Amino acid sequence: MRTIQVEKITEEVAQMCKEAAYYLPGDVYDALKKGRETEESPVGRDVLDQIIKNAEIAKAEDRPICQDTGMAIIFVEVGQDLHIEGGSLEDAINAGVAKGYTEGYLRKSVVEEPLFNRKNTQNNTPAIIYTKIVDGDKIKIQLAPKGFGSENKSGIKMLVPADGVEGVKKAVLDIILHASCNPCPPMVVGVGIGGTMDRAAVLSKRALIRPTNVRNAHPDYAKLELELLDLINKTGIGPQLGGTTSALAVNIEWGATHIAGLPVAVTICCHAMRHSERVL
Ligand code: SF4
Repeated sequence: MRTIQVEKITEEVAQMCKEAAYYLPGDVYDALKKGRETEESPVGRDVLDQIIKNAEIAKAEDRPICQDTGMAIIFVEVGQDLHIEGGSLEDAINAGVAKGYTEGYLRKSVVEEPLFNRKNTQNNTPAIIYTKIVDGDKIKIQLAPKGFGSENKSGIKMLVPADGVEGVKKAVLDIILHASCNPCPPMVVGVGIGGTMDRAAVLSKRALIRPTNVRNAHPDYAKLELELLDLINKTGIGPQLGGTTSALAVNIEWGATHIAGLPVAVTICCHAMRHSERVL
């Protein structure tokens, strides 16, 4: 049994919050550059130039890529042979989020109650934490700050098996067309297929963490990712003011489901597709 102190987890999460806010992942930066090369609209090319320049300035000056530094979405895989000492995992993660957002002067965007009071918690906690127990004695932490300009345009459709692949394509496109230019495109589109309503939504979030240049390991889903990307890029939404670069990637994650169901969830992320990862 290996032991890790909660302080180590807190410190790493704090660093990850800052890192994710300042540095756009290389695959997303490369996808923006590629989009700039192929974009057919002059205005679209100009917008992409500005988005790329913005990411470069943020990286050079350690400043947030966007003013909306997001709600911290965290996927944790805990090895069953790891002992976490000194406190609870959830408290350690939330302490790291609070430290990172405070030290990094990142906008605190979380309210403690959603409907009546909406009082800001002042430290961007609580994070949304998904924990999975796995083999081994390590802990893997993946953090993705999620802005709500794009989150607000995400959606879910409960299809039936007879809807099939064409039904899935229509469901995804309907959500994207409804979102239009509001989620700060070019988007990265996470799609969760299968499970239950809630499971599909989590799969769509997890899909976003996969690099934009890595296709699903299952050839049918990999093909569907490319087909959906092509359809989305033909909508004309473009990089905010019209064009051919509406999305940088479509990432699908799938899971077992009921014989009567075909849930499809779509989490839309903006061009600021930020994430950070540690294995401790
Ligand atoms: S959707 Fe993304 S780019 Fe737009 S404001 Fe929110 S975090 Fe920023």
